[in-house]
Amino acid sequence: MPPRLPIRPDLAEVEPYGAPVLAVPVRLNVNENPCPPPPEVVTAVTAAVGEAAAGLNRYPDREFLTLRGALAEYLGREADAPWLTAGHLWAANGSNEIMLHVFQAFGGPGRTAVSFTPTYSMYPQYARDTYTRWVTAPRRADFTLDLTTALGVIDRERPSVIVLASPNNPTGTALRLDEIEALARATVGPGGEASAVVVVDEAYAEFRRPGTPSAVELVPTYPHLAVARTMSKAFAFAGARVGYLAAAPDMVDVLRVVRLPYHLSTLTQAAALAALQHADVLLGGVAALRDARDRLVLDLRSRSDPVTGRPLEVAESDANFVLFGTFTDRNAVWRALVRDGVLIREVGPTGWLRVSVGTCEENTAFLAALDHVLSTAEVSR
Ligand SMILES: *Cc1c(COP(=O)(O)O)cnc(C)c1O
Repeated sequence: MPPRLPIRPDLAEVEPYGAPVLAVPVRLNVNENPCPPPPEVVTAVTAAVGEAAAGLNRYPDREFLTLRGALAEYLGREADAPWLTAGHLWAANGSNEIMLHVFQAFGGPGRTAVSFTPTYSMYPQYARDTYTRWVTAPRRADFTLDLTTALGVIDRERPSVIVLASPNNPTGTALRLDEIEALARATVGPGGEASAVVVVDEAYAEFRRPGTPSAVELVPTYPHLAVARTMSKAFAFAGARVGYLAAAPDMVDVLRVVRLPYHLSTLTQAAALAALQHADVLLGGVAALRDARDRLVLDLRSRSDPVTGRPLEVAESDANFVLFGTFTDRNAVWRALVRDGVLIREVGPTGWLRVSVGTCEENTAFLAALDHVLSTAEVSR
């Protein structure tokens, strides 16, 4: 027997994170944009990456101010925040790495991070990996934030990091700005010092319904508030791994301390810049996905649980996925859908399932499979 590895005790027996990867025809399980980048964007990205390849003997641009400027310009347009500059922006290999930077800089041993469940299952892993204590409080039954509970937890636990996903994964729920502001105000002491950073994870922001604001507009007022975004969802660029964050330049400077040297490769920077130059084309399908999302919510609401006969519960969604349920045996429903060639996600509170919005064909295939599954005796037992 070879010797056992000297693994950290808290990591022993822990399985790596990740949704099941199954080769089925319809994959609606990880909230990707179902439409590949259009040919003109593929051509532009290829050309940019080809040009960058000629300089790969050199390390990448460590501060990537060109990319940060392009992200500032895009976000300034998207969130009506023309005051954003390169100094307000940070970027990394996916917003997952952005969040790790936040935990590395503001969490750590003896410190606490707080969030409100159900929410993104990666957050506790950033806490674990940075030895930050992880504390959660429940959202309301409709997945909105209970401000009294939230303020109570902050008062009691004295966190140094507060993570708010909006629109939230896996529920699709967007937070109101006055709620986010209340938490930002509750973390400023009498002398004006902030006891916590408030990070609003807006990975799905581009899918929000008209009238739903972005927390970016709070950044000038609250120097301890940051908004994380990603090119993985609306931008149809998940494979490139580009996430970013907008905050006061002082907070961005703190994140620069903990990043690994040259963490964003020359090829990533080139590809992201080329994609941002074609933002309008890449985001051209978002309106259709939003419409398809709204239709999917209505279509699901017109169906019933085979056991109870009650109409399905469907959460309001400002994202590109829909949480629905509740099933007596959600795993049976999930497995039967896989057998019908449709992969969704078994995630969220007990009894619920999450489906990503796909192409029209994929959504139709999902609903047909769901109808088939709901009519079989197997899931009714
Ligand atoms: C998908 C998702 C992200 C994006 O992660 P990337 O690392 O940018 O691909 C971030 N936050 C939430 C809540 C998500 O669901």
